[in-house]
Amino acid sequence: MGSIRRSKTKRRTRDLDQVHEDQSSEATVKKLQNQPLDETKPGLGQHYCIPCAKYFETEQAETVHRRGKNHKRRVKLLKEQPYSQAEADAASGLGVEKYNKFVSDYQDQKKTQENKMEVE
Ligand SMILES: [Zn+2]
Repeated sequence: MGSIRRSKTKRRTRDLDQVHEDQSSEATVKKLQNQPLDETKPGLGQHYCIPCAKYFETEQAETVHRRGKNHKRRVKLLKEQPYSQAEADAASGLGVEKYNKFVSDYQDQKKTQENKMEVE
């Protein structure tokens, strides 16, 4: 298993910014978590990991995936990504105030999200 580890073009999933959009509204998240049965998708589209934009055959496969390295890496990347533009602005000496506000807002938001995840 796992003989070809770095095939980035194979099984390409959604870009991080697309996933960000997916996660940005609760309505979209709900929709993705409660998809209609679709026989063209693995597991009929019932086991979807939003951060990784991946379908799983079974709930067990999804659970195993969520504990795995790839999933955690992806979640981490997703958490880091929104900083980039604000950080660039701050670094250039523009909008430091805006950046600080953004960071505190973002951390609040992250806390809420993490609490939600623990409930799941
Ligand atoms: Zn995942």
